[in-house]
Amino acid sequence: MQKVIITGGTGYIGSHTVVEFQNAGFEVVVIDNLSNSVIEVLTGIESITGIRPIFYQIDVSETKDLETVFKDHKDAVAVIHFAAYKAVGESVKEPLKYYQNNIQGLVNVLSNMIKYDIPNLVFSSSCTVYGQPEKLPVTEDTPVVKAESPYGNTKKINEEIIVDTINSSENLNAISLRYFNPIGAHISANIGELPLGVPNNLLPYITQTAIGLRKELSVFGDDYNTPDGTAIRDYINVCDLAKAHVVAVKRLLNNALRYEVFNIGTGKGSSVMEIINAFESSTGQKLNYKIVDRRAGDIEQVWADTSKANKILCWKAEISLDETVKSAWEWEKKVQKS
Ligand code: UDP
Repeated sequence: MQKVIITGGTGYIGSHTVVEFQNAGFEVVVIDNLSNSVIEVLTGIESITGIRPIFYQIDVSETKDLETVFKDHKDAVAVIHFAAYKAVGESVKEPLKYYQNNIQGLVNVLSNMIKYDIPNLVFSSSCTVYGQPEKLPVTEDTPVVKAESPYGNTKKINEEIIVDTINSSENLNAISLRYFNPIGAHISANIGELPLGVPNNLLPYITQTAIGLRKELSVFGDDYNTPDGTAIRDYINVCDLAKAHVVAVKRLLNNALRYEVFNIGTGKGSSVMEIINAFESSTGQKLNYKIVDRRAGDIEQVWADTSKANKILCWKAEISLDETVKSAWEWEKKVQKS
């Protein structure tokens, strides 16, 4: 059985990715410091796949602790690196916390991969590296621009660190997956998104409003240059996104190019109002919302050209928007019950 190490494997995207690797027949080692997730996620994973992953509660920015895990699992064929802070607003207030954790974490992961000869990395990057592109949809050749937040900058810098490291080493290969907007939960409702405190992202805010935890959803701006005036994003089901990591590792194992970048989205943009409508119609819940001013730093519209991933990785998003928002709702109901 081939083994992979998944950092941040109890987090939102990480946990769904653990499930997909287990389903594909890999043995999974999870490293997570539980700073933004809970240990019960492992039980959720086990209830889906029947397998509890090997788990280390370790911070990837702690050099010594991390090395112990890599030493014990130097037979791993790949590392999937998720562990990072991800709140855009917080990163503006506490940039050094983000640079310290997100940059040092990757440096430690790469150092150990070189030291223990683990040759393949899949890195979780973001469409934030494109900023507001001039041309839509966004291809992988769309220029990477100056980041709008320290968080975004850590993604940009991390991609550069990976390229420099590959150029200087003989046996390291990587794929960066630039995610658009992951939403939804596993169909079993045994794992899903668990935001700490007040959610920043649209979908958890919607489900928490519908369940009564929040009074109303604020729709940030209806005066954008879009058909209904609300901002447009490419919302992708988290399980579809998770599967992209499995095909990326398989490509690396087949001696593909040493470094590649892929957009991971659906190829379709949806406005905030379209998401609200999809939520209401697929769940039968009425959502309390009001239009407020634009949120500072938000871009107007972005969606992916996914033809590179479709063609080269033979991957495409399959789960519909309606099914996806419904899965988020089923998860929210389960979380509130427990
Ligand atoms: N959004 C909103 N109300 C919220 C949270 C988000 O109207 O409470 C909007 C936000 O302005 C953006 C879209 O929903 O247009 C997606 O926001 P999210 O924070 O989920 O993702 P990102 O902005 O990072 O793409």
